[in-house]
Amino acid sequence: MTSIDLERAMGEPGCPICRLRQQMERRYLFHLLYENVNDGGTRLHLVRGMGLCPDHAWALQAIEQERWHDALGMGIIYEDLTRRVLRTFTEYLHTNPPHGADWRSNLRRGLERSGAVGRRLARRLLSSAPGTSLAARVTAVERCRACNLVGSLEESNLRVLRQKLPDPEFRGHYAASDGLCLPHLRFALANAEAEQTVRSLIEVAAAKLTPLVDDLAEYLRKHDWNNREEAKVPWENVSPVRAMAFITGEAPLAEKRDIYRVRSKALTEYHRRANAPAEPNPARSGLPGDADDPQQQGSHG
Ligand SMILES: [Zn+2]
Ligand SMILES: [Zn+2]
Repeated sequence: MTSIDLERAMGEPGCPICRLRQQMERRYLFHLLYENVNDGGTRLHLVRGMGLCPDHAWALQAIEQERWHDALGMGIIYEDLTRRVLRTFTEYLHTNPPHGADWRSNLRRGLERSGAVGRRLARRLLSSAPGTSLAARVTAVERCRACNLVGSLEESNLRVLRQKLPDPEFRGHYAASDGLCLPHLRFALANAEAEQTVRSLIEVAAAKLTPLVDDLAEYLRKHDWNNREEAKVPWENVSPVRAMAFITGEAPLAEKRDIYRVRSKALTEYHRRANAPAEPNPARSGLPGDADDPQQQGSHG
């Protein structure tokens, strides 16, 4: 990432680091769908991360739907993950017959009644939360790949910003931008090497926050019954949204209506399927397949 990207983002509305983050996220998710769905290394990360975090997973779905009106790429990724989860649960059911649970709780009760040593033994050998290890087997052991990659690019963008701030021309561009959101400002402050960097960051932030706080105060004041006739100014009307964007970071790009429709249709169709009479499907009646390798199917590449 270069300062050119940063300067370009500073010319766009909102926090420039959030802006670049959104562009990087889209780029990563697009390339994941376009060429990396069947890449072994990528798939290993996805398996270890149990897919992507909720935000990135749904963004992946939205991108595929928007771009290809399809779900093949995410279908390949999530078929594999869902199958693995089902295999874990099936194994559990096979290795833990129903009477096993009674046997274990009887032994635990017996040990707990037998005194302090027995109680310690019961705690060590027979967990009172019998689902803990099973839950661990279906939990991500790696952070979301997209969060990881985007996070390190975000750090490098903030490093460029801190390094360039002493340059008066760059500082001028930065002061003319919408400035950093609080999460990015916090990170920049915590990593600032020089007092002057801290000062420049805070000068710009204070210059942005002063009118925002005034607009919010006016917005609230004009909601008072006695002031209801006073004309509302557009930037006052949007000031609560901007205040939230400052405190939490810019909102992700809103998804289009048809993405929402696809998601609610999926819910409705699966609800209908659950209520439909079961149709025996001989091809699917067995246990889930044993293949551990991601299937080599085509995607959008
Ligand atoms: Zn930001
Ligand atoms: Zn993520």
